[in-house]
Amino acid sequence: MFRTMNTVADRVARLIRPEIRALSAYHVADAASLIKLDAMENPYVWPEPLKRQWLERLHDVAINRYPDPSSRVLRQRLKESLGLPAGIELLLGNGSDELIQLILMGVAYAGASVVAPVPTFVMYEMIAKFVGMKFVGVPLTTDFALDPRAMQTAIRVHQPAVVFLAYPNNPTGNLFDASAIDAILQAAPGLVVVDEAYHAFALRSFVDRLGRYDNLLVLRTLSKQGLAGLRLGVLAGDPAWLAEFDKLRLPYNINVLTQASAEFALAHVQVLDAQTAQIRADREWLRHQLERLPGVHVWPSAANFLLFRTAKPADAVFADLRRGGVLIKNLASAGEALSGCLRVTVGTPQENALFLDVLARALDSP
Ligand SMILES: *Cc1c(COP(=O)(O)O)cnc(C)c1O
Repeated sequence: MFRTMNTVADRVARLIRPEIRALSAYHVADAASLIKLDAMENPYVWPEPLKRQWLERLHDVAINRYPDPSSRVLRQRLKESLGLPAGIELLLGNGSDELIQLILMGVAYAGASVVAPVPTFVMYEMIAKFVGMKFVGVPLTTDFALDPRAMQTAIRVHQPAVVFLAYPNNPTGNLFDASAIDAILQAAPGLVVVDEAYHAFALRSFVDRLGRYDNLLVLRTLSKQGLAGLRLGVLAGDPAWLAEFDKLRLPYNINVLTQASAEFALAHVQVLDAQTAQIRADREWLRHQLERLPGVHVWPSAANFLLFRTAKPADAVFADLRRGGVLIKNLASAGEALSGCLRVTVGTPQENALFLDVLARALDSP
């Protein structure tokens, strides 16, 4: 077939599903030479002696061989560290994003829907659309709490295959009321996925409920805890569910370097624990400092980030910060509930101080 001006665009339009063409790709901002406080990463690296030990461990990894397809050793270490109820198993993913994808691929029969309170983690809606499911967002209350009656109505009307609840929620930072989640677990005809990506900063969990509800799955990740570069997500639940999702998992989704590095990190988890404890303390310091700035409203957070709103338009504040060398997340166009909102990840004490400094100057200037 000859290549003409319009052929490829026409073919794309003909072949690619309209709901995919209507999506915009997940946007990752370019952070070159900026202080990166936009993506909930842990700002700390490992002490040099620990790094050397880790590299020694990687030295022996057989990179010419396929990885253990079920990550048996790593899964065992994770099971021990999570303290799972009897009979609960784990499935590992290339980040928890992949696990969300596996769950939704497994339940995407014609007409199936996904319910989640909004605003929330955008991948629930994006992946629902990837697999052809309907996404129903149920607005949170004005203080970003779950609206129990609206959730119950959405569950009754849409009979969702899956309900997603981020606990704590991203980008709002709060923990939903646990008894409201219990009520959702009881009312939902399908799965309820409690996404605990920020567990290290909230220290509250539904893992112990796994033995009580057979429709509950708990999602964790090592990303926010300090290993975002590894890409390792963890899904805990009844093996009857996990066996089905496991069929959809591509072979060898957890590579040898990730398996070896995550095992190593779990053996030295006290290092990560000390870093996340520091971040929790700094979150409170940063919140008090933000509260003292004129025209700033900041929400309480159980995660490693803070949501705030400024009197000056968010777009201008975001641009001023960027010019001042600090990258945060601008949520101004992320829907009405977040209009004027910005999200900052808690960094090192030096990064936090610099951010506050640049922000104070931005708020001072017209
Ligand atoms: C960051 C985040 C994730 C994604 O984590 P990965 O394991 O890095 O894919 C999942 N859920 C929520 C709520 C998040 O904020």
